Amino acid sequence: MSTKIIAVPTTTANAFLLVGERVVLVDSGSPGNEKRIFDTLERHGLTPKDLSLILLTHGHWDHLGSAQAIRVLSKAPVALHRADLELASAGQAKLKPYGLGTALLEPYFSSKRFAPVTPDLILNGFETLKAYGVNAKLRATPGHTDGSVSVLLENGDAIIGDVLRGDFMLENRPNWHFFYDDVDLVQSSIKTILDLKPERLFVGHGKPFSFKSLQQQFVNKVKA
Ligand SMILES: [Zn+2]
Ligand SMILES: [Zn+2]
Repeated sequence: MSTKIIAVPTTTANAFLLVGERVVLVDSGSPGNEKRIFDTLERHGLTPKDLSLILLTHGHWDHLGSAQAIRVLSKAPVALHRADLELASAGQAKLKPYGLGTALLEPYFSSKRFAPVTPDLILNGFETLKAYGVNAKLRATPGHTDGSVSVLLENGDAIIGDVLRGDFMLENRPNWHFFYDDVDLVQSSIKTILDLKPERLFVGHGKPFSFKSLQQQFVNKVKA
């Protein structure tokens, strides 16, 4: 069973379809993005009923915003790590800026509200997705939020959510994300990812990057 990744053009954060024997949606975009996800399914000859799972990499509005609308139509369960349950039920999140100039973005992102989401499946971050028809497993990669998870596909691809971001124009330019709840935790999550050696890394914001580019640009940025 091979599994491939299809990127979904949502308004703020990237969402992805993992297509194997069934289809897992990784992240759901911002509130109101459900049509973009349904349109992408249709373009690939799929329907909402083909979804076996709506997996959220973490509990921020731009990743879980359309989860409820998609759950209603697809009947697929929503999965989220237990450490982000509070975020998902709050309907809003206060973000912690990281890096120069990022504080300017904070009021906009922290003001975003969403309908609270109650997941059907509560994750510990080490599950496999085989039961949902795709060749992939999860790995807890906290730091951006406590409950952030990454998805590792057997073909060598990975979706790492907001652990890092890509450049918005060019591939292979990994960068720090704009917001981290805990910078030390994110450093160890980046080390975890470096140890796992995925070939291609897809992120919530910006273009994907290769493992080689991550290694070249980040191996000296994380504490030993
Ligand atoms: Zn995001
Ligand atoms: Zn986020």
